[in-house]
Amino acid sequence: MIYFEITPDDEFIKTDKVPGPTKEEIRALVISKTHLTDEDVVVDVGCGTGGLTVEFAKRVKSVYSIDMNPDAIATTRKNLEKFGLTHKVELIEEEGYKALDDIEDFTKLVIGGSGGNLENIIREGYIKLPVGGRIIITSIVLETATESVRVLKELGSEPEVVNFNVSKGTVLDRGVMMKALNPITIISAKKI
Ligand code: SAH
Repeated sequence: MIYFEITPDDEFIKTDKVPGPTKEEIRALVISKTHLTDEDVVVDVGCGTGGLTVEFAKRVKSVYSIDMNPDAIATTRKNLEKFGLTHKVELIEEEGYKALDDIEDFTKLVIGGSGGNLENIIREGYIKLPVGGRIIITSIVLETATESVRVLKELGSEPEVVNFNVSKGTVLDRGVMMKALNPITIISAKKI
């Protein structure tokens, strides 16, 4: 059993032009819902800064990371170089739905950004997943969560919905002050 730590937020190379990395505590939760094995091939739609891509690349066979923003692809590449993981990841600068057209062999699909194309990405991805594969959607917008649940139910799957509210403490002289991170909803489902 190999233990991989979660990479701390402040170790990532960041730019103002790209969101992320997903906070380390949330990355840990996404990993748990993804049920990763070292045989997995993961598709990360909306890789942003590469926060989740780096966590997947450490743990699985290979990763396809998709983002339509060239700055996101460049930033994810820099982080993969920094952590020595470039050999595990194929970076694809394209809209998620279109990029999925050309990928056949994945076992887990993680959607962290979808623009207006969430339903298309879920439907296309779900059809291509093998039975037992998993789809995970991280959402900071309520509508993303409800749309995901609706589409997954229409596809005959049984989505699980968990809302995470994480607060982090700042240790001050007079005590520990808790600060809330943005709540995040994780929708996950197994391909039946
Ligand atoms: N999980 C990432 C942060 C994701 S931010 C991290 O840990 O670093 C969401 C990203 O999704 C943004 O970079 C945005 O460009 C991308 N995105 C949004 N809609 C998209 C779509 N339809 N296709 C591809 N990428 C998309």
